[in-house]
Formats: sequence, structure tokens, C-alpha cells
Amino acid sequence: YYEQIQQSGRLKITGQLSAAVAHEIRNPLTVVKGFLQLFEQDTSFTAERKGHLALMIDELGTAEQVISQFLSVAKPEKEKVLETVDVKLVLQSVKDLLHSYGLLHNNRIELNIMGDCTISINTIEFKQLLINIIKNAIEASKMGDLVLVTARSEKGFVVINVTDHGRGMSEEEVASLGTPFYSLKSKGTGLGMMICFNIVEKYKGTIDFQTSKGHGTTVTIRFPSI
Ligand code: ADP
Ligand code: MG
Repeated sequence: YYEQIQQSGRLKITGQLSAAVAHEIRNPLTVVKGFLQLFEQDTSFTAERKGHLALMIDELGTAEQVISQFLSVAKPEKEKVLETVDVKLVLQSVKDLLHSYGLLHNNRIELNIMGDCTISINTIEFKQLLINIIKNAIEASKMGDLVLVTARSEKGFVVINVTDHGRGMSEEEVASLGTPFYSLKSKGTGLGMMICFNIVEKYKGTIDFQTSKGHGTTVTIRFPSI
């Protein structure tokens, strides 16, 4: 228990530090990326040079992604007010968001919400949690596969399940989830699950994984209902 408290203290300091660093790094990154995108439209560049430009823009995109994930963990506590949140509305808006950013990779997300699912949480953090989990489900799936998201109220809890029929995880892989920078993806940041675990713990929820290598995964999130 003591170790756990120490751990969360460490995470807090890491969070504050990375917020400061992230702010300073993000702006110059955005400026450089903007100019590279301008160069890309320049007709005097050779195809080879344009290939280099595309690579640079892509790499900067990855760097930006790492930074924004750090930034959202590290936002000051006072910005994170508790809200009465309708899980159904948030799930719908997360689905739309993933759709409009083209993050669905041709996959379908099906929502199935039963009854009244209301929890007390910060909406931005709740969205971030859901986006990370659903994005992982899509990235683990084959093109066109279905990701099923269900929510229901059960014995004082709201239970959310995210099910994919993708690659699944071994026991070792599950045990590594939440370790900063643990990722099996070539373009992964390995920060998503760490952020999710933090948010779940902060709002007294739980997160569980039921998975079978090669067959798929169900992530179960529970929060006390109100
Ligand atoms: P990232 O998505 O950037 O790799 P995450 O922290 O979100 O980082 O996830 C860490 C790793 O956990 C992923 O690289 C992947 O190997 C594994 N993982 C997470 N969710 C799933 C899932 N639904 N199915 C299979 N593997 C998963
Ligand atoms: Mg992820």
C-alpha cells in the first residue's frame, strides 16, 4: 500500500515536469511542421526530396502525439472538475470523434447502452480513457472488423465493455500494460494505457482485461454509478 502511495506521488511530479517540458516543445514542433508542409507544395522539389519531407512530417506527427498525451496527463488538477456525466452521450461523441479523425481504419464501432448510465467524473479525462481503449481495440483488429462497446448499470456500478476480435494478448503482454513506453506497435507511444490506469484509479474505478491470443480482447471498465 505504501509503495502504491509513493508511486502515485512520483507520477504526480513526473506529470508536472512533463507538462512544463511539453509546452515548451510543442510550439516549435508545430512551427517546423507547418513550414515543412509548405515546402511539400513547392513544385521545384524532386520526388526524392518530397519523400524526405513526408518522412519528416510523419516523424514530427509522432512526436506531437507523444507530447499531447503527456500534456493531457499533466494538466493542472483545478481544471479537472467533477461532472455528472451521461455515459451514453460521451460514448456517442467519442464514436463521432474517432470517425471524423479517420481513426476507424474502415472498422465499425457498434454502441449498445442499456438503461441509465451516469457517473461522476471529469468529461475530458473520461473521453481520453475511452478514446485510448477504443483506439487500441481498432488498432488490434483487422480492417473492417467490428468493435463492440456496451454500457450498463449493475449493482451500483456502470460497466463498460470494449470488445475486439483482433490479435489478443499473452499473459506477459497484459502484465506489461501501463508500463510507460510499453508498445508493440511500430508507431506506438506506449503511453495510452498508463494514462488510462491513472484515470481509472483517480475516479475509484477498475479496469480488467479478458483476452486470448489471436482471438480478441474485452476490456471492462467499472465506475461507481450515481
Ligand atoms: P500504444 O497504443 O501506443 O502502443 P498503449 O499503452 O495504448 O500504447 O498500449 C500498449 C500495448 O498494449 C499496445 O502496443 C498493444 O501491444 C497492447 N494492447 C493494448 N490494447 C490492446 C488490444 N485491445 N488488443 C491487443 N493488444 C492491445
Ligand atoms: Mg494506444
